[in-house]
Amino acid sequence: MTLDKIIEKAYQLIYRRRVEQIEEGVYNVVGEHGTYTVVRGLDGSITCNCLGFASRKKCSHSLAVIMLSNPHLLRSIERELRKEDRWRKAKR
Ligand SMILES: [Zn+2]
Repeated sequence: MTLDKIIEKAYQLIYRRRVEQIEEGVYNVVGEHGTYTVVRGLDGSITCNCLGFASRKKCSHSLAVIMLSNPHLLRSIERELRKEDRWRKAKR
């Protein structure tokens, strides 16, 4: 999966309210293939227990948590995705 795809999926997870904080620094994320646990360490590091994270050290679930806790990042990603949508429609 390309980084673009991961960003888009992460945004969809937030938009569909699939991310739920269950305690300080611990989040449940309901993905397409199951529910995953994303944990944010005190040093700011993020881990997820999905296979994608195990092999690539990044995934849409952990990125969704990063985006949720960073409204500025979330807004700029939102803008980029909207721009792309317009671009896709203009091409049709
Ligand atoms: Zn994950």
